[in-house]
Amino acid sequence: MYNRIYSAAILGIEAVPVTVEADIGPGLPGFTMVGFITSKVREAEERVKTALKNTDIPLPAKRITINLSPADIRKDGSRYDLAIACVILAATGVIPSETLPDVMVLGELGLNGEIRPVPGVLPSVILARKMGLRTCIVPKSNRREGSVVTGIRAVGVSTVGELIRFFTEGVIPEEGTEEPEDAENEAADFRDIRGQETVKRAALIAVAGFHNLLMVGPPGAGKTMIARRIPSILPPPSPEECLAITRIYSIAGLLPQGVSLIRKRPFRAPHHTVSPQALAGGGLVPTPGEITLAHRGVLFLDEIAEFSRRSLEILRQPLEDREIVIARTQATYTFPADFLLVAAMNPCPCGYYPDTSRCRCSPQMIGQYLGRLSRPLLDRIDLCTEAAAVSYDDLRKGEEGEDSASIRRKAGAALERQKMRFEGNGLLFNARIPASEVSRYCETTPEAERFLRCVFSKMSLTARGYHRILKVARTVADLDGAERIALAHAEEAVFYRSLDSKYRI
Ligand SMILES: [Zn+2]
Repeated sequence: MYNRIYSAAILGIEAVPVTVEADIGPGLPGFTMVGFITSKVREAEERVKTALKNTDIPLPAKRITINLSPADIRKDGSRYDLAIACVILAATGVIPSETLPDVMVLGELGLNGEIRPVPGVLPSVILARKMGLRTCIVPKSNRREGSVVTGIRAVGVSTVGELIRFFTEGVIPEEGTEEPEDAENEAADFRDIRGQETVKRAALIAVAGFHNLLMVGPPGAGKTMIARRIPSILPPPSPEECLAITRIYSIAGLLPQGVSLIRKRPFRAPHHTVSPQALAGGGLVPTPGEITLAHRGVLFLDEIAEFSRRSLEILRQPLEDREIVIARTQATYTFPADFLLVAAMNPCPCGYYPDTSRCRCSPQMIGQYLGRLSRPLLDRIDLCTEAAAVSYDDLRKGEEGEDSASIRRKAGAALERQKMRFEGNGLLFNARIPASEVSRYCETTPEAERFLRCVFSKMSLTARGYHRILKVARTVADLDGAERIALAHAEEAVFYRSLDSKYRI
């Protein structure tokens, strides 16, 4: 007796079809599983056997062979449990086998016959629809995630009993009253930050042109507070971006319970002790790392000088290519990693330089500290700004700052100008203008031109550094609603490089 059903494997951020086949034949009773599977998949045998037994369905005393194909894709995890149970149930006549070819099944089995959530449901349901299937059976707690996809039915089941009733009687388990999507906690708002106008301005420019930002300042200057508020001034994600972000969190198994679609931009702030693997993505069959979880959002590296060199080196390629490629012996995986990098650091090991009344670090120590950021990494950061020391009173007193909604509108208007300017050539942000197009898009007034030429020789800039200033100036001009980069715009852009000379970074 032979039967087959579809399931799906996750490779990178894509789901690919996997066919689960069962053959039950005469011979010594036994259970064999083949098809390039990891030990985790092999454990399905015990889970399936026990779950069926506890649902009062004895396995036939025959020779059972399970094959997962195609054979060249490594299959990992517990996501095939339910598909394996299905083909066995069909092979033993418990469920009708003719319904199987139209269905995709995903889910982990508990020993008591309960069906547990698995990662990657969203891309799998999208795949099932692409394959022209009519139904995708998923664990009940993943149903909302699957229901985002239109044009296919995502059925949520919570027990083997429910699965059988669906196949035999067409009973769709009650959806239950799902809690309303959690009303997002009021996000942190820029209005809470008094003072620090320069840093706030830099944050606006960063968002308005998608420029990576580095804040240097003593502890307590509000760097972290500002970083955490940056997502609140980013334009809300488009529907396609929501789907792309949700897909990543689905695969990482990090979709919050009851959330079907992530509608806000991610903010990831890995600690400086994070391993290079956790940052990049790792595992035998790699899963998304922090830089991918920050896709279309903010990656915040607090105390960036404390990160290991290996971790920081990992950022280089994604900052250039907007994706990360992870090679394994059997395959190469590509994960999207298009994030806004926001970094913060102290100016010296003690944190108080250049306040010489408090800083006791030697020039050598300061140099070494800043030297931890490699030149190639710094080359990818467009804006450097200093967060001055502020007293507690400064932060408390005075008027409330400008609120996030108002700052977001300014950034939005600048982004809109960029969209119009780049219409039809695939660019979205000033920060992404390629070297070959800088002169075309970053037109300057004669005064600005003279000023920049002077700066170029004085600061002994590289071509790359010069382009970076021009792109930031372009964003400042966009915020100003100006067609051409004027002197004031160029001056402000150069101001965000002044740290280079001050700290010799
Ligand atoms: Zn110091």
